[in-house]
Amino acid sequence: MFPIPSAPFPSSQPFAARLTAPAGAAEVRLFVRGGAAVLALPNRYSVTYLVMSGDDVVVVDVGSNADVPRVVDALRWLDRQPSSVRAVVVSHYHFDHVMGIDALARRCGCPVALSRAAFDSLRGGPQLRKPPGKAAWPFLLGWVRQGLPVLPASDWRVVRRYLDPAAANPFQSDIVPLDDGQTLFDLPGWRVITTPGHSDCSMALFHRRSGFLITGDTVRNYLGGEWNPLQVDPEQFVATKALLRALPVRTVFPGHGPVLDGKDVLEHLKTVRA
Ligand SMILES: [Zn+2]
Repeated sequence: MFPIPSAPFPSSQPFAARLTAPAGAAEVRLFVRGGAAVLALPNRYSVTYLVMSGDDVVVVDVGSNADVPRVVDALRWLDRQPSSVRAVVVSHYHFDHVMGIDALARRCGCPVALSRAAFDSLRGGPQLRKPPGKAAWPFLLGWVRQGLPVLPASDWRVVRRYLDPAAANPFQSDIVPLDDGQTLFDLPGWRVITTPGHSDCSMALFHRRSGFLITGDTVRNYLGGEWNPLQVDPEQFVATKALLRALPVRTVFPGHGPVLDGKDVLEHLKTVRA
């Protein structure tokens, strides 16, 4: 059984998010079901997820260097040490999900895990495409719905290298690739699913018995739960949608906004225009 902390973990909900996102601001929530446990930890630019099994933890997405102490506090709240983190996973290589990854991996002494496409591009393989220019205005609207976060100096120093997919590998930590269908380190039941469309390197993490699906930005929840309209490859996005909808998903952990929970949760997602 997974021990559930009695005291709540401190959480703040940015005023701009509560005001402008119809779904409201994301909340700290712990989900335990079917032998899997996931903590949703809303952070500065996106939601960080702590995936737990036994003493092992895998952290997914850390958007800001300023998020790192909060992730360490959350580990302690869950009675885990930074040394119990097996890897820090990049759901996709967009700056608002990645800038704090290396600092956390160094703090935990663990590798950074990326999808095969992101890993290969950092090793000189095919370059990832940038989001299309027409995505700038919808992205800014999303930024407001995220709570209009301001970049601290620790992020300003590194943001340029994360905005350019052709820049050199920014990680000082070891990097490891995650292939489609692979298990998530030794966490029982968790599988990697590559989900290109929003970006070339998007991936999801799925746990069949619990119906947990961590989607990165393929799904977001500013408007009550929607397929992300910002796509680098709309055709691939259609295939990704079909792939995910065929899975028995009960809980969606989106890249932004509150967790979505319920029967046929993917069938209820909205399709919105960018
Ligand atoms: Zn993204």
